Amino acid sequence: MAGAHPAVAFETDGGVQQVQCRLVVGADGRNSTVRSQAGIQLRGAEPTHLFSGMLVGDVSEWPQDTYATASEGEVQCQIFPQGEKRVRLYTTTAPDQRRRYDGGPAGRARFLGDFRGMRCMPLAQCLADGTPLGPCATFAGEDTWADVPFVEGVVLIGDAAGYNDPLIGQGLSLALRDARVLSEILVTTERWSPESLWPYGEERRKRVQRVRFTAALMADLYGSFGPGAPARRRRFLSRLADPDFRGRALLASLAVGPDRSPEWAYTEHFRKEVLGMTLGTGTRLTTPSTGPLARLRSPRPVTAAFGGGPSEGVVIALRMGSRQGGGEPRPTWRVVRGSSNGIPRYLVGDRLRP
Ligand SMILES: Cc1cc2nc3c(=O)[nH]c(=O)nc-3n(C[C@H](O)[C@H](O)[C@H](O)COP(=O)(O)OP(=O)(O)OC[C@H]3O[C@@H](n4cnc5c(N)ncnc54)[C@H](O)[C@@H]3O)c2cc1C
Repeated sequence: MAGAHPAVAFETDGGVQQVQCRLVVGADGRNSTVRSQAGIQLRGAEPTHLFSGMLVGDVSEWPQDTYATASEGEVQCQIFPQGEKRVRLYTTTAPDQRRRYDGGPAGRARFLGDFRGMRCMPLAQCLADGTPLGPCATFAGEDTWADVPFVEGVVLIGDAAGYNDPLIGQGLSLALRDARVLSEILVTTERWSPESLWPYGEERRKRVQRVRFTAALMADLYGSFGPGAPARRRRFLSRLADPDFRGRALLASLAVGPDRSPEWAYTEHFRKEVLGMTLGTGTRLTTPSTGPLARLRSPRPVTAAFGGGPSEGVVIALRMGSRQGGGEPRPTWRVVRGSSNGIPRYLVGDRLRP
């Protein structure tokens, strides 16, 4: 219940309880009941793709410290190791593929079949031979947001306040940042009024606007399958090794966050640069020599990149858990050389050598 005297009602084995409080923090996810009861509206962008996922076991060959993504034909796939020979597998497909994995066991088999069909992905067969450990669920890849994520007596955080396209996996980081920004206000403010919550709303608005931009651009790059899409990916990936290619900031923003990425990584000019669209004449733009992005000028963490070959496949693999001096994780991108006869050979560190 919103208003000057907020309260929460809930049910336990002992019956319905009601608790009065100073402020209700709605952290109840993308279908938030608190949000609808408080009358807070979500805005949304049209989904440009679908995102499907399944937990898969008995994948003993896949290196458990390696994330990878590949695009081929009409599917992008991603592999997230989960420990104990399990991986969480995802595909991205076009919006008209909503029923692609319907049908219970048959749908799960089709999902694994899409991995089998990833000729460019090392160890694709071992992924496809895995055992489904849960349902195969499909989500629309959209972004939503509340212009103002609070009313008198109620504030929303995490997915309840609007969720980011799962394609780029930033949802938990956004939710944790919400919790931090909001709690810092609450511990320093006497009255928890809408006025005192305003800085949280503003910080969140700017932050999710940036993350939305990144998600849409990543979707243009990895989650689109029309004519020209494979060439776009190949062009992008083939330029990643160039320290002066500003497109590296797109991938870096997923690791360093929207507030530590440069302003230009959220501009139309940058979008065109990443998608390899014609640029007008203008100033030559380079990556900065200081700040978090400066590291990308060195050969590490972006080690090398290669996209495609005559087959359409492109792969990026990310070795996880690499830290320097116990500080920030320093992801290492390792990509992949292909042979020229259709079935590429890969060298992804030493781990994915087929
Ligand atoms: C397919 C997919 C893949 C994703 N992959 C990633 C990823 O790789 N990395 C990443 O960071 N994020 C990812 N996300 C996003 C991430 O899952 C969410 O952004 C994150 O879980 C949001 O956290 P939250 O606490 O706001 O909401 P949730 O995690 O949804 O938690 C809400 C909680 O509230 C509870 N709840 C809801 N209603 C009620 C009620 N009426 N009473 C009591 N309890 C209630 C729910 O049971 C739930 O436990 C993914 C999302 C999807 C859909």
